[in-house]
Amino acid sequence: MGSSVFARRHILIVTRNRGKLAEIDQIFQGLEIKVTSAYEEFNFEEVPETGVTYVENALLKARRGFEISRRLCVGEDSGLEVDALDGAPGIYSARFGENLSSASDKIKKLLSLLKGVPPARRSARFRAAVALAWQGGERVFEGVCEGWISENPRGEGGFGYDPVFVFPPFEKTFAELGAGVKNLYSHRAMAFRAMVKFALEKGLLSPASEKRI
Ligand code: IMP
Repeated sequence: MGSSVFARRHILIVTRNRGKLAEIDQIFQGLEIKVTSAYEEFNFEEVPETGVTYVENALLKARRGFEISRRLCVGEDSGLEVDALDGAPGIYSARFGENLSSASDKIKKLLSLLKGVPPARRSARFRAAVALAWQGGERVFEGVCEGWISENPRGEGGFGYDPVFVFPPFEKTFAELGAGVKNLYSHRAMAFRAMVKFALEKGLLSPASEKRI
């Protein structure tokens, strides 16, 4: 098997977020697609999220990653929108609460802002934009997952706001449901699956069977 064939089952992801990378790896389980961090492989400066939409930020990351690596690159941007907070933290989800570094501190801040808000008004959604950049083109795929914010964190799985995001069909948080269920229904899974379908159809990724030839 030549290295070029292997390279065509490999996608670079422009992220330093280990939780996200592990999740993407899990979404691709069984597809024989390898994902690695473009930052770790090519050691370049973090792309500033200067866009005002998820799509813009995802494109900025994918373009920069491709420019540096000249390989199939994906940029992803995602966030949590809470209706009772007029859509905050939204695209600022990672930076929510400026000086709060840990996910549990960010969750505490979110829950304190929602104190006293009744269940019926705690609706929220995760959004993800996944941008793919390759020689001669780029394309964006989006995913949304509707739910609501619990009053207390529940569960051990996932990352970020997963312990407070309740997924209605199961009435459990993503952290309680774990990767197996989250990765069937999440905003990220939806966007990444659409991206892989497109990349296969376009010949940017070779079919899994070809890899074994
Ligand atoms: P970014 O996409 O790296 O800018 O960060 C998005 C931020 O939104 C993450 O750091 C999390 O705080 C939050 N977020 C996005 N997707 C998820 C998810 O699937 N679970 C939990 N938190 C998420």
